[in-house]
Amino acid sequence: MYSFAYHRDASIEGTCRLRETLDNARFLAGGQSLLPMMKLRFAAPENIIDLRDLEELRGIKRDGEVITIGALTRHADVARSALMRETIPAIADLAGWIGDPMVRAQGTLGGSVANNDPAACYPSACLALGARIHTTAGEIEADDFFLGVFETALTDGALVTAVEFPVPDTAAYVKFRHPASRFALAGVFVARFGGLVRVGITGAGQMGAYRWIEAEEALTENFSADSLDEIKTDISVMNSDIHADAEYRAHLVEVMTRRAVKEAITRQY
Ligand SMILES: Cc1cc2nc3c(=O)[nH]c(=O)nc-3n(C[C@H](O)[C@H](O)[C@H](O)COP(=O)(O)OP(=O)(O)OC[C@H]3O[C@@H](n4cnc5c(N)ncnc54)[C@H](O)[C@@H]3O)c2cc1C
Repeated sequence: MYSFAYHRDASIEGTCRLRETLDNARFLAGGQSLLPMMKLRFAAPENIIDLRDLEELRGIKRDGEVITIGALTRHADVARSALMRETIPAIADLAGWIGDPMVRAQGTLGGSVANNDPAACYPSACLALGARIHTTAGEIEADDFFLGVFETALTDGALVTAVEFPVPDTAAYVKFRHPASRFALAGVFVARFGGLVRVGITGAGQMGAYRWIEAEEALTENFSADSLDEIKTDISVMNSDIHADAEYRAHLVEVMTRRAVKEAITRQY
């Protein structure tokens, strides 16, 4: 790896000031995406601003029917949180299936949503649950946040501080993972709020995570895996790469969505 300068500050204000004043600077959270990108020289920041001292960005809180997870909360902490298991166990499952123990011990929720890898798990949960992303430049609805592959509505230099998830009546996350990386070849998060159902898909689409509106409409009408029988995924919007072609990914999306619905129905909490 080439050289860079390392900085850190224990306050959000000081951290954002560093980001504004330093040239070619990047935040570092868990480093599970940024460091591999730097090693491969896809990213070459001159200044790294480590977020590790921002203790106020860690932790999971409940306020009525809303769960707020601090941006620096690690995947492993979400996976083993008793509060998450009690309120939105599908998110605890999702976090527990990210990468391997080392990735989960270092990677953070904020890093995952800010990075918006097209195969990352959290964006599908944010879309299906109608999450709200808190940033130092204001709050952004998940529907407006994930713009495309590695692209978000986060303004330049803004910090993701937390993500707010409404508690659904039921939800489930099912992913078909790549056997080596464990990223999603297709991951599906289904959530039901009253009569309304939302479906977030990751790993499959050319534009990264997206909502599968046709499935949402059919499931809102009848929350049963059978109601997906007549629905086909649009293959033309599927990603095709060395790991899986578009047709295979479309098939995986249909199968994983059925499984997620069945899982959500048996869960009904
Ligand atoms: C082997 C391996 C397997 C993986 N498998 C999966 C998987 O199955 N599912 C999955 O979802 N992910 C997977 N990941 C990715 C992992 O979840 C990362 O932890 C995550 O994508 C990035 O989080 P991080 O905290 O490590 O961020 P970093 O790598 O530190 O940062 C990533 C990017 O986000 C920016 N950033 C970080 N935090 C913030 C913030 N609070 N506000 C604004 N910008 C910020 C950084 O500047 C950088 O551009 C895997 C990674 C590896 C290495």
